[in-house]
Order: sequence, then C-alpha cells, then structure tokens
Amino acid sequence: MKRALFEDEHNWFRESVAAFVDRELMPNRERFRSQRSIDREAWLKAGEAGFLGLGVPAEYGGSGIDDFRFNAVFGEELARAGFAYASSFGIQTDVVAPYLLRLTTEEQRRRWLPGFCKGEIVTAIGMTEPAAGSDLKGIQSTARRDGDGWSLSGSKTFITNGYNANLVVTAARTPDPGGISLFAVEEGMEGFNRGTKLHKLGQHEADTAELFFDEVALPAENLIGEPGRGMALMMGHLSQERISTAVVNVAHAENVMRLTLEYVMERKAFGRPIGSFQNSRFVLAGCDAELDMARVYVDRCVEAHVAGELTAVEAAKAKLISSEIQNRVIDACMQLHGGYGYIEEYEVARSWVDARITRIWAGTNEIMKEVIGRSLGLEEPQG
Ligand SMILES: Cc1cc2nc3c(=O)[nH]c(=O)nc-3n(C[C@H](O)[C@H](O)[C@H](O)COP(=O)(O)OP(=O)(O)OC[C@H]3O[C@@H](n4cnc5c(N)ncnc54)[C@H](O)[C@@H]3O)c2cc1C
Repeated sequence: MKRALFEDEHNWFRESVAAFVDRELMPNRERFRSQRSIDREAWLKAGEAGFLGLGVPAEYGGSGIDDFRFNAVFGEELARAGFAYASSFGIQTDVVAPYLLRLTTEEQRRRWLPGFCKGEIVTAIGMTEPAAGSDLKGIQSTARRDGDGWSLSGSKTFITNGYNANLVVTAARTPDPGGISLFAVEEGMEGFNRGTKLHKLGQHEADTAELFFDEVALPAENLIGEPGRGMALMMGHLSQERISTAVVNVAHAENVMRLTLEYVMERKAFGRPIGSFQNSRFVLAGCDAELDMARVYVDRCVEAHVAGELTAVEAAKAKLISSEIQNRVIDACMQLHGGYGYIEEYEVARSWVDARITRIWAGTNEIMKEVIGRSLGLEEPQG
C-alpha cells in the first residue's frame, strides 16, 4: 500500500541516509561483526552528516527540526543494512535523546548535547539489571546522598552501546528521596567498570555489555530530572522507544522479503524457479499481506506520535504486532531459502537471529499484552 507518511524532505533525507549506509557501514560490516562493535569513526561520520541530532535544537548542534518521521527514516534505512545498526544508533537518537533534551537543565544540555550530536558522546540507557528486567521496580542499584552529590553502587546488564558509551543514563534506587532516580554516569568516573562485550546470538555489530558501579561519585549536576521520579520518567519515554523499534521491525522484515523474492526467482528445483511453486506463492503472499498490515498500523502510530497523540497502549500494540510479524515473515523466508537460509553468509540467516530479540526487548511481548489487556479492563484480582 502506498505510504502517506512522508513528504519530500523525508524522501531526500532517506537518500542521504542510504548513501551513508552504503559508504560507511556496508563496506565495514564484517569487521564490525567480528569486533562486536561499530567503529567510533562511523559514529562521527553519522554525526557529521547530521543524523545524530534529530530533534535536537540547532543551538545545541542538532537538526533543529522536531519531527519523528526523520528518526523513522533513519531507522528504516539502517535496518536494511542490518538490525544492529538500527538498534545501536537508535538508542542514541530515539531512546536517549528525549531524556537529554526534556529532563535536563540548560547547563546539562550545553555540556552534553553538542558532543552527542557529533557522535563524540555515544550514549546508552541502563535500566535492566541481572535481577530486574520486566519488573523494573526490582532495580537494586542504589545511589546514596554523598555530600552535594551521590554515590552509586550496583550493576546493569544487556546494555546496548554499553561497552563504548561515553555517557549512560542510569536508573538507580535512591533512599532519599525514595524511589528511582536517573543519573548520567560518564566514562572515566572512578568505580565505573564494564564487563566484556556479551556474546549475543545475533546483532554482532552492536556492542552489548554489563556495567558495574562501585561507589561511583556522581556530582549533583549529573542527576537527570527530578529525584525519586525516575520510574514515571522512564515509563513516559517508553512509547517512543516502542514505536522506534516497531518501525525498524517492519523495515527489517520488508528487506528480507525483497531479498527472498529475488532468491525464489533465481533458485531452481525440478526444472523451475522455486517461486513458481504454489506453496512459495502462497507463503510470500501471506507475508506480503501481513507486512502491509503492520506497516499501515505502524505508520499511523508514527503519525500520531508526531502529533503528540500516541498512547502507551497503541505503542505497545505496534511493538507487539510488528515483532511477531517480523519474526514470522523472516522465518518463512528462511524456509524458502532451504539449506542456504541456515548459512551465516546469507542475509536471511543473519536476519533470522537478529530479529529474535525484538519479541524480548523494549518490554517483552508478554508485557505488551499486559499493557493492552489492562486497557481492556482486564486486571488480575488484587490481594
Ligand atoms: C541484546 C539486548 C539488548 C538490550 N538492550 C538494553 C538496553 O540498552 N538497556 C536496557 O536497560 N535493557 C536492555 N535490554 C534488556 C531487555 O529490555 C530485557 O531483557 C527485557 O526487558 C526482559 O527482561 P529480562 O531479560 O530480565 O526477562 P524477565 O523479566 O526475567 O522475563 C523472563 C520471561 O518472563 C516473562 N514475564 C515476566 N514478567 C511477566 C508477567 N508479568 N506476565 C507474563 N510474563 C512475564 C517475560 O515476558 C519473559 O518471557 C537488552 C536485552 C538484550 C538481550
């Protein structure tokens, strides 16, 4: 179905992102995969091209245009090159940016945003802990008052960009005031250490790490937002994270679908292209219909988000259906590749493992169903 979401400026922007992807990411892909991280050089190039300051006012070095459709285009083009690019850069532009823009003081914005837009400050978000993922109320990292500042101890796990980040927006329990508070933990702070890069099943280009905090002395100026209100602040930002991942999920599957259509016309069995078998046609027809449906819903959510009208429930639905359809479509495409679909050099094999996490992160799909279920008035009995 023809998309109605974008205007000329988004289409021009897409061309420049696609050129960046072809020039800076594709030729270095195998190296990024084997070193399990994207070179800082690529971040700096993305910054230079203006991709990292989307939505950031020009006075802090950003694009000066607050229009999430540009973020959507950026994510879609990155996803076509590989899911890990979209997740790594997306943490910066779609997940952390709103924290640094909306919850910070003028002094903090001046301190962090220019480097953030240039790619000199790569960021991460540290919510998940070894014993607290879906249930963030179980966060055990603790920041106690220490003079004017805070002393942070604890750990985080599964943190995207965690190994290379210069600044990690970190959620920690604060006894005074009670609740969760958010802090900027910066590279080089004493007591801030990282584990090795985690050996994930897929998305090898993205660095994902455990983080350790051993009485890290945080100045008062590194508190982000109001102390004790961290949980509400994080919940308030989840819709953008979920719509961002939904956009990328659909684009990623669309790319695999496109490659599979080419493959089934080239590959022959029993003297004919495998695409000419009725089963292949039916499978791909089903995938195409599902993707179209997901695309239309997600585009509508992006439109609502740009208008400031996207609800948490709509974002949860977009995350849920896009990840389910993405995984179903890619699995079907892998089957149509036969044995080659299981070989790492084939895009479909990489995409299959890369996609599996999308049903787990940004809130698991079970948690999405909880959010949607509650909106239907269906709650577990209390007590
Ligand atoms: C590659 C990768 C990158 C990540 N990046 C980041 C990052 O940058 N920052 C960050 O903070 N986190 C990140 N995460 C963490 C991710 O968001 C969590 O893994 C996810 O939220 C699930 O938490 P968990 O792993 O602790 O699973 P758990 O919460 O232990 O869940 C285990 C299972 O129990 C189910 N479950 C839990 N509660 C309920 C319930 N109430 N009802 C029904 N079922 C339930 C879950 O759905 C799941 O199936 C990343 C994870 C991975 C693997």
